[in-house]
This record gives sequence, structure tokens and C-alpha cells, in this order.
Amino acid sequence: MADDCIFCKIVAGELPSETVQEDEHTVAFMDLNPWTRGHALVVPRRHSRNLYEVDDADLGYAGVAAKRLALRMRDRLGCDGVNLLGCCEPAAWQTVFHTHVHVIPRYDDDPLQLPVRPRQAEQDELARVAAELRES
Ligand code: AMP
Ligand code: ZN
Repeated sequence: MADDCIFCKIVAGELPSETVQEDEHTVAFMDLNPWTRGHALVVPRRHSRNLYEVDDADLGYAGVAAKRLALRMRDRLGCDGVNLLGCCEPAAWQTVFHTHVHVIPRYDDDPLQLPVRPRQAEQDELARVAAELRES
């Protein structure tokens, strides 16, 4: 448990939460500031800062837990889809530094919009960035 980590405190039962799912490795609870009805967070019990640092097995457990929760959102809330969102570092909107996956039920008539308008890339730029990223 990390000092001053609010999600560690939720996992430990030291801070209140609306917990909806638990297993040996993960806990899921309602997000206090939901983007849509039912927005929840899945967190590994073991503390890590984010995707850069999370233990591989914990990442897998969180993914499986997110799937289980997404299926229950579909069945119980009647959502029409689900977004999974992970934020890693402030540049990517992370505000709580304990690894978590947002599980966001989506409804055909909800007001969420994509925050970007993707445009088709130039082929040579795609090739350049792919060369930088490719495992050698
Ligand atoms: P992120 O910006 O990806 O780091 O997401 C952190 C999320 O945690 C935000 O959506 C907050 O609304 C949510 N949050 C912060 N504190 C709490 C809390 N005590 N209980 C539930 N959700 C929280
Ligand atoms: Zn923590």
C-alpha cells in the first residue's frame, strides 16, 4: 500500500466507495464523477503508479475484471456499448496515481463525443513513426 494513495485506501476499506465487484487481485467501484450512468473503475489491489509500472499479471487481472464488469453493465444497465479507458501520466489525463481502468457504459443517446477528429495520416509519416516504434 502506498502512503497517501486514495485508491489504496479504498482497497483497504479505509475510504468509502460504492464497490461493485471484487476478486483476489482487483476491486471495482463507482467513479465519483461519472461520465455516464454506471461509470466504474477497476483497480489492481497491489499499488502501482500506472501502465508504465504495473505488474504484467495485475494488468491481465484488471483486463479480465473489466470484461466481467462490462458484461454485467450490458446485462443489468442495458448499455449499448462500453469504453475502456486508461490514463498514463498527466499528459494523458491521469489524476489518480494508482493504476486503474475506466469502464464506461455507453448508451446510444448519451452525450459523450470523441475528443479528437482523427485525420488520415500521410503514408511516409506512418512509415517513419512505425520505424521508430518497431521492435528490432
Ligand atoms: P484518471 O483521471 O484516469 O486518473 O481517473 C481518476 C478517476 O478517479 C476520476 O474519474 C475521478 O472522478 C475518480 N475518483 C477520484 N477520487 C475518487 C474516489 N474517492 N472514489 C471514486 N472515484 C474517484
Ligand atoms: Zn495505490
